[in-house]
Amino acid sequence: MKAILPLFIFIDACGWEIIRNEPFCNTLAPNRRRLESVFGYSSACVPSILSGRWPVDHRNWCYFVYDPEHSPFRVLKPLRWLPRSLTSRRMVRRWLSKLVKVQLRFRGYFDLYNIPFKHISLFDFTEKKSPLRPGGMNRGANIADFLEELGIPHHVSDPARGETGNFDAVLEDVKTGRIDFAFVYWPDLDGLLHREGNQSPEISPALRAYEERIGRLLDAARARYENVRLYVFSDHGMANCDTLVDLKARIEPLPPRFGGDYVAVYDSTMARFWFFNEDARRAVTETLRAIPEGGIVPDAELEQLHCLFPDRYFGELIFLMREGVLIVPSHMGERPIRAMHGYHPSEKHSYAALLTNQPDIPEDITAIPHIHRLMVRDALLARERNGSRGPPEQRAQRGFPTAHRAPEPALARTGPCGCSQQ
Ligand SMILES: [Zn+2]
Repeated sequence: MKAILPLFIFIDACGWEIIRNEPFCNTLAPNRRRLESVFGYSSACVPSILSGRWPVDHRNWCYFVYDPEHSPFRVLKPLRWLPRSLTSRRMVRRWLSKLVKVQLRFRGYFDLYNIPFKHISLFDFTEKKSPLRPGGMNRGANIADFLEELGIPHHVSDPARGETGNFDAVLEDVKTGRIDFAFVYWPDLDGLLHREGNQSPEISPALRAYEERIGRLLDAARARYENVRLYVFSDHGMANCDTLVDLKARIEPLPPRFGGDYVAVYDSTMARFWFFNEDARRAVTETLRAIPEGGIVPDAELEQLHCLFPDRYFGELIFLMREGVLIVPSHMGERPIRAMHGYHPSEKHSYAALLTNQPDIPEDITAIPHIHRLMVRDALLARERNGSRGPPEQRAQRGFPTAHRAPEPALARTGPCGCSQQ
């Protein structure tokens, strides 16, 4: 028997409002807390949890940025001649995304989404590495780096395996007792909520299935570890989208030209602009100010949200929709989707959740990047109580097993967000 297993289970989009009036994990992890999310999509939330830092520090925020100099997509430019009826198809986009991902050796989640091929060479993609893996952050370290550096044998999910594959893999590692730390990532609830909305009758059965899975994992762990410290948590919630706004149709008829005077990325809930002259800035800003379904996020607020980038790498102006308003069509999708996240973190459905079987959650754990603090604390505790281990090179000399590491992922079936919309 080993002394301790910290078991961190990340269920994407299992937000506070999803479980607030639900008995989810009441017996397995009865102590629960609402957590503030990070402004942005899973592309920002997942790296923040894994690194314990905010977007302005780790620089994993939104996927596409204006950066023609570093754009890897020039090779796709000839595709602009293909008819839009073909290239806007989701299946075609997915297939092309896989091809591009292999070609460009991207290791994280990658999707071309709905960026027109005519403009694609203006953009760079910011998640070329997988934030779940060692060295996967754009800047700084993540929990996988920490575990590797300290030589703590661990399990971290690999999105390429899918939920069931990752469950089988962690179950196997727990049964053998070879790990001292586990980080499990399940993205499928996010996809379900995007498709069906946050009131869907399918949510409860999905939560029961997660409980059953977690219960099995706990049973297996308790056979090998005296104390299993369970944490179930999410990155954000999910808001139903009942209002659609065609933001492009408001901006593109203006005199300033896309590509010549300004560039924009239309995400699902926000639009980010870069301007090349003052006329363009003025015309776009005035038009945006007259749109009641959203608002320009002031710099002071971006700073408060830890998303004010001094070099404006992710956009000079950020226009954010109110909760429940979806930009359609956007560069993320041609058609509407039932529900979305990526609104202001203070909106009702943005809040994430943390559930644990530990009696106390430290008071300073109030936002999702703080989960990293719990992971570090518990990993160190497990290291100490399960038998001390030195750095990897010393361990090898002493004949300790090396930390368990999943093989390099081939082609991810689902990304940090199991949906087609970030
Ligand atoms: Zn999502």
